[in-house]
Amino acid sequence: MPSLFAKIIRGELPSDIVYQDDLVTAFRDINPQAPTHVLIVPNKFIRTVNDLTAEDEQIAGRLLLVAKKVAEQEGIAEDGYRIIINCNRHGGQEVYHLHMHLVGGRAMGRMLR
Ligand code: 5GP
Repeated sequence: MPSLFAKIIRGELPSDIVYQDDLVTAFRDINPQAPTHVLIVPNKFIRTVNDLTAEDEQIAGRLLLVAKKVAEQEGIAEDGYRIIINCNRHGGQEVYHLHMHLVGGRAMGRMLR
């Protein structure tokens, strides 16, 4: 069964894709928590951060570089933003296809509440 995000990456589910390359896809979160809320997802199915291997080093690096690129594209780079990756139950992960949240467009407050 392809993950929900795999279907978005392949264009089988509608979404607002803001960036895509050979390794990652970035699209707007369906339930945004800030004026800008973009999910950056590896095209390859990786379940959680725990499942990353040394082979995935390029993908892991690309996620961060694309976050930077999308922040510039969205006009939030200078004011700043937050990048979040949730892992498993205590991390609050709901969708089990690794993804990075890029949130900004307002002051994000303290890191943990
Ligand atoms: P997690 O809690 O796993 O880190 O975050 C999952 C995120 O995926 C949530 O912010 C949720 O709003 C978003 N999400 C869930 N289903 C969909 C969907 O079908 N489309 C989009 N664009 N985002 C989704």
